[in-house]
Amino acid sequence: MKYDVIIIGAGPGGIFSAYELTRLNPALNIAVYEAGNPLDKRHCPIDGVKVRSCIRCRTCAIMNGFGGAGAFSDGKYNITNDFGGSLHEYIGKKQAIELMEYVDEINMARGGEGTHMYSTAATKFHKICLQNKLHLLNASVRHLGTDKNYVVLENLYDELKDKVTFFFRTPVEEIEVLEGGGFRVKGASFGEAECSRCIVSVGRSGSKWMEEICRELAIPTKSNRVDIGVRVELPAEIFSDLTDELYESKIVYRTEMFEDNVRTFCMNPNGIVVNENTNGIVTVNGHSFEDPAKKTKNTNFALLVSKHFSEPFKDSNEYGESIARLSNMLGGGVIVQRFGDLIRGRRSNVKRIEECTTEPTLGATPGDLSLVLPKRILDGIVEMIYALDKVAPGTANDDTLLYGVEVKFYNMEVELDKNLETRHPGLFIIGDGSGVTHSLSHASASGVYVARHICSGRSEIL
Ligand SMILES: Cc1cc2nc3c(=O)[nH]c(=O)nc-3n(C[C@H](O)[C@H](O)[C@H](O)COP(=O)(O)OP(=O)(O)OC[C@H]3O[C@@H](n4cnc5c(N)ncnc54)[C@H](O)[C@@H]3O)c2cc1C
Repeated sequence: MKYDVIIIGAGPGGIFSAYELTRLNPALNIAVYEAGNPLDKRHCPIDGVKVRSCIRCRTCAIMNGFGGAGAFSDGKYNITNDFGGSLHEYIGKKQAIELMEYVDEINMARGGEGTHMYSTAATKFHKICLQNKLHLLNASVRHLGTDKNYVVLENLYDELKDKVTFFFRTPVEEIEVLEGGGFRVKGASFGEAECSRCIVSVGRSGSKWMEEICRELAIPTKSNRVDIGVRVELPAEIFSDLTDELYESKIVYRTEMFEDNVRTFCMNPNGIVVNENTNGIVTVNGHSFEDPAKKTKNTNFALLVSKHFSEPFKDSNEYGESIARLSNMLGGGVIVQRFGDLIRGRRSNVKRIEECTTEPTLGATPGDLSLVLPKRILDGIVEMIYALDKVAPGTANDDTLLYGVEVKFYNMEVELDKNLETRHPGLFIIGDGSGVTHSLSHASASGVYVARHICSGRSEIL
């Protein structure tokens, strides 16, 4: 088969490339190759009863398939250049924001209407945070919620399925650069196909494959960051001043002891704490819902410390995975500990968790996080909990729950030009798989950007 454009991966990056390409040039012959299933066939077998841990499905329903890694996420679209990726360094701050706003408009028109857009602009919390050595980052946050996020994806698929050829359960294994221009992609499940332009958007789950492809095609890469920490759960009232006004506040604290940055991440007012299974390693995450019936009495958020490594160590993700494996070994999965137990140097046990006034929303194993997390990371987290206690009194209560570990993995950064194009003209790498983005909004915006570039003629298409 020969296509004008082949898109590899149907996460937000791939979806929005396909959307914009079909909008700008309906005549284009476009194929999307996706390793996972269509949205309605994505079901993780772990139900906590019959299947309690990962059975290593052929493709992971959580990470792979139409909608990508974010399909069952909380659907928080952060419109900002302050976090979520470095797209603005390639395409400029103004354009990056405009593209994120454009993605938001599309989502609103496909099921997201009526959802709330929060903003940190002109909030009193900037000052309160600064007075307490905390830095509130600027952002507008569209909160779709897990339920509406799914509806938006369903609608996008319905719209695209007749304009684009989708191949599901078809991982691409090789990309060959053709003499005279164009590319040949190959995979055991489909054979091979050729295209003039190839957009690779394989996200975090495709990171190891992406590294191989870059090695084979001599595309330079660099990597060395992983974020490690815990998920904090406490009564929603404690953070309600912040969450009512901002929903998601990204707050950064610089520790006194080591001058490390600790930051809040993925805040879920009235949400639930959940297990996240990545390739058999169970870490912790959080969700919240728009539907009032699904709301809980608790708010949860992550506290993460970024670890950057220097030579000779190269595998920052393996470091994060090893720490997560350690918690899985000790707790059979995620460990939960009361803050009061942590600072008294004792483990939480079933009795202490049962007596805890904060009711856990995840059935994790009571234990001792100090046996899992490196001291430097744990010290930073404890310092930040005390700093947050000054802006949200009650954060440092004994009954605040800490779940561990939460790990945020980063892809290596691929060498790209300002068009997100590799040294092979016509081969674009976008979204989280490029290392340029780490979020729904940035990944989606990168897809729109490359589609526009291809259709502009500057990429000498076809
Ligand atoms: C549980 C969870 C919650 C999240 N919540 C949020 C949130 O609220 N807000 C936010 O901004 N971000 C969130 N994120 C991050 C967000 O999901 C990602 O930043 C975003 O999905 C990246 O989009 P992408 O298209 O680059 O990659 P992905 O979404 O990872 O999609 C890549 C796709 O490529 C496919 N693929 C991989 N390799 C191949 C191959 N060789 N051949 C064919 N297909 C392949 C995969 O199956 C996958 O479907 C969350 C992530 C997770 C895991």
